[in-house]
Amino acid sequence: MERIKTLYQAMTNSDYILLGAGAGLSAAAGISFADEKAFKAQFPVLWQKGIHSDYQTFSYKAWSLEQRWAYWAKHITQVRYNTPPLTLYTQLLTLLNGWDYQIITSNVDRQFYRSGFPMERVFEAQGSYDWLRCTNENCDRQWAAEDFIKRMLPQVDEAQLTIPTDYLPRCPVCGALLEMAFRHHDGYHEAQENYRQWLKKSESGSICIIEIGVGFNSPGVIRVPFERITGGRVQAKFFRITVDYPNSEEEIAYPEIPQPIAKQSTSLNLDARVVIETLFKWKTS
Ligand SMILES: [Zn+2]
Repeated sequence: MERIKTLYQAMTNSDYILLGAGAGLSAAAGISFADEKAFKAQFPVLWQKGIHSDYQTFSYKAWSLEQRWAYWAKHITQVRYNTPPLTLYTQLLTLLNGWDYQIITSNVDRQFYRSGFPMERVFEAQGSYDWLRCTNENCDRQWAAEDFIKRMLPQVDEAQLTIPTDYLPRCPVCGALLEMAFRHHDGYHEAQENYRQWLKKSESGSICIIEIGVGFNSPGVIRVPFERITGGRVQAKFFRITVDYPNSEEEIAYPEIPQPIAKQSTSLNLDARVVIETLFKWKTS
């Protein structure tokens, strides 16, 4: 509790707030990519292949396209369409209201967008589930994912986790196969540039840097840059909020703070839900 107070004071005393959100934020809010029990129940075929969580599907390479898209269709429907905007995100929005803040997230679930965050304040560094792109380089068109996902979902053979080849998503213009766009979508570079500009602007004052639920899946996106920004600014206070994934065999949080920035930093080895709900109560009471 004392450390949450320290965080709230730092927020209150800072001109700017920089917030980095990783999978641990969505996990605390209700979307877990590390939940192996739920994964085993939903994707027994993948479990038998040795894939034990949604995380592990990202690095798995031995898919047939038919199985890859059967997985995407089910997973994206669940995460992106069937999951409503989550309370923890709307609380975070209320909490940050009134500050000049900027968010960088590795989450692809679009919870910031769906919870009503002003998207000029959010940089989705890994893109999102919302766009597909044509694999034909001469065409290179992009398409909203939703219609394609909805068309594939009823075709999924649950026992084999596969879809008929005829239902693989294809470009309506050139007929080539589509793939998930992630970072390769229109507007990505503008959002990245906008984020960089804000960082530059924030050098003019004091800044509270808050990292929530960022592990070691892609430390180069948020974790390492945040440590560097902290180390490079005298007027920076850094807070690392992370907790181990209790249901995972391999996800670990590492709440430690590197020695060179230890004096400016506080580690809160707490569930993001506890921290955000507490801050939200203080702000709204
Ligand atoms: Zn095309």
